[in-house]
Amino acid sequence: MAAKSFDLIVIGAGPGGYVAAIRGAQLGLNVAVVEREHMGGICLNWGCIPTKALLRSSEVFHLMHRAGEFGLKADKIGYDLEAVVKRSRGVAKQLNSGVGHLLKKNKVTIIMGEASLPAKGKVSVKTDKGAEELEAKHIVLATGARARELPGLEADGEQVWTYKHALMPPHMPKKLLVIGSGAIGIEFASFYNTLGAETTVVEVMERILPVEDAEISGMAKKSFQKQGMKIMEKAMVKQLDRAKGKVTAHIEAGSKVEKHDFDTVISAVGIVGNTEGLGLEDLGVKVDRTHVVTDEYCRTGVEGLYAIGDVAGAPWLAHKASHEGVMVAEMIAGQTVHPVKPDSIAGCTYCQPQVASVGLTEAQAKEAGYRIRVGRFPFIGNGKAIALGEPEGMIKTVFDEKTGELLGAHMIGAEVTELIQGYVVGRQLETTEEDLMQAVFPHPTLSEMMHESVLDAYDRVIHI
Ligand SMILES: Cc1cc2nc3c(=O)[nH]c(=O)nc-3n(C[C@H](O)[C@H](O)[C@H](O)COP(=O)(O)OP(=O)(O)OC[C@H]3O[C@@H](n4cnc5c(N)ncnc54)[C@H](O)[C@@H]3O)c2cc1C
Repeated sequence: MAAKSFDLIVIGAGPGGYVAAIRGAQLGLNVAVVEREHMGGICLNWGCIPTKALLRSSEVFHLMHRAGEFGLKADKIGYDLEAVVKRSRGVAKQLNSGVGHLLKKNKVTIIMGEASLPAKGKVSVKTDKGAEELEAKHIVLATGARARELPGLEADGEQVWTYKHALMPPHMPKKLLVIGSGAIGIEFASFYNTLGAETTVVEVMERILPVEDAEISGMAKKSFQKQGMKIMEKAMVKQLDRAKGKVTAHIEAGSKVEKHDFDTVISAVGIVGNTEGLGLEDLGVKVDRTHVVTDEYCRTGVEGLYAIGDVAGAPWLAHKASHEGVMVAEMIAGQTVHPVKPDSIAGCTYCQPQVASVGLTEAQAKEAGYRIRVGRFPFIGNGKAIALGEPEGMIKTVFDEKTGELLGAHMIGAEVTELIQGYVVGRQLETTEEDLMQAVFPHPTLSEMMHESVLDAYDRVIHI
């Protein structure tokens, strides 16, 4: 049977792939998307969305304990873990079916099955009904990534979990070890700690949330410790001894190795790209460790083959994947496009307190040779933060002293994951301190702190 022909075939229907497919179809391309498991990829099914649904439950639980502060009464506060998880799965399911609907609405052909690339311009799909052969001038790889497993620390789903197990826990941990303090590790640590698990976080780097500005990491650490979390930095889990009802972790810190017992371990030591089984080697696609090597336009070097999102490397974020998807689809459709600028992609961690940032940290700006001005504004100086009962946090801004360019912004505190977009837009518009100081921020809002932080960088702050 002759291969079915398309203008564009996208492999993987995560936030990279499904967005690329929709944008391609909007621009008049005949598009197919091949997906082996679920519409919406990790993001909707096992990542961004279900974690945020869980974290919303723990946030409400936390607030219920503070009811008295707000003149309210809440007795016998408790939770039903099964119901918390059920809500999270329900939210994921709702969005997952939404993606299928959007693809159909845009007349994208959906093919459920596992794709590989037998030759340039060819896609072979293993479906329930046998193999299906497709061809297209343009193919976008958007196959995403999965949890990294370190030897000896492999997940078993019972005592040692990856993020997937942690999203559908077989039990509520009593004594929990989280290995790795990137966004994924810290979000689960925050969730389970708030629900009452005695939580220890072990981070091999010198501080938790290692990609964040050092000052923000330090504030996060203090806050987590105040909430009862134990934080071990510059420490490495060397071995896990599994026995009935307990896991003994051998943790190397400094020159000694300590043994600590836990009932549950979450391994959050990074992710690896899904590059296997696609036939990339035979096509001559370059793979560096676990990600496909591309240029700034997501081109792999093999004509007509592109890679976007997690499979194409850091930052491993859904909005990066989607933005690359749009850029590639527009490029294929013949439009002029601009490469995605990595230092304009914000990162958010939805722990309590939240953390968000964009651009260079203070240390990175100095290393890059900038003479900088730094502004800071604490939540305690903001009327809305006090009214909300959220006085903990800070907004920090970093400017190039010479040009006034906003080089970076770093936040910790309530709702900062919603605030950061203001600075994202600012950086996209190449905003200077002058524009930000002239902007009139509404009162009373948390966003006023974004203004005050800029004013502070230029010695004009009002409310501290
Ligand atoms: C617990 C957790 C929380 C997260 N939270 C956030 C967050 O808050 N914000 C954020 O921005 N990011 C977050 N992320 C990261 C985010 O989920 C990823 O960056 C995003 O999903 C990447 O999108 P993608 O399209 O590249 O790949 P994916 O979402 O991984 O999608 C890839 C798809 O390709 C399919 N596929 C793979 N191989 C094949 C094949 N051979 N044939 C057919 N189909 C195939 C897979 O089944 C999958 O559906 C989180 C991740 C995790 C694990």
